[in-house]
Amino acid sequence: MLRPMRQPVVHIRLWVLIGDAGYNKDPITAQGIADAFRDADACAAALDDALDHVRPFEAVMADYQRIRDEHALPMYEFTTQLATLAPPPPEMQRLFGAIVGDRNAMDAFVQMNAGTISPIEFFATARVERT
Ligand SMILES: Cc1cc2nc3c(=O)[nH]c(=O)nc-3n(C[C@H](O)[C@H](O)[C@H](O)COP(=O)(O)OP(=O)(O)OC[C@H]3O[C@@H](n4cnc5c(N)ncnc54)[C@H](O)[C@@H]3O)c2cc1C
Repeated sequence: MLRPMRQPVVHIRLWVLIGDAGYNKDPITAQGIADAFRDADACAAALDDALDHVRPFEAVMADYQRIRDEHALPMYEFTTQLATLAPPPPEMQRLFGAIVGDRNAMDAFVQMNAGTISPIEFFATARVERT
């Protein structure tokens, strides 16, 4: 079957925000670069699905935003608290008390701080109660 000489071109005015443009937080936990790469990767995958008509644009972007927010929110809250430079709140003091001397838990805390695992993974690894 002959294809038309000129494919119809659809112009769509769309924009998405990734990295610092999507949200930003205090630099004290130095998460910005990892977040930017993670967002770019997830956004590219979502756009790929939309452009391949795997799922509608609105659906893939809603998932992109939801997953980004689920990942970012715990660290955002931790960062916001840390950035005050106020003494750690009682629950944080209990946390430090619970992990001190536990090599796996302390390693996991550093990994969480570096952004290589999420706070949710940290709490699972460290086997400490969230309050
Ligand atoms: C001094 C400093 C130290 C930092 N240290 C760390 C660190 O140790 N670890 C860490 O994880 N993060 C760090 N950050 C944060 C990190 O740099 C950012 O979170 C990260 O670069 C965000 O990436 P991005 O791609 O979202 O935005 P950017 O890296 O800001 O990229 C945006 C790009 O868009 C371009 N641009 C803007 N407007 C337009 C336009 N109209 N048209 C075309 N291009 C445009 C800009 O020129 C820029 O190149 C630091 C930031 C600063 C300022």
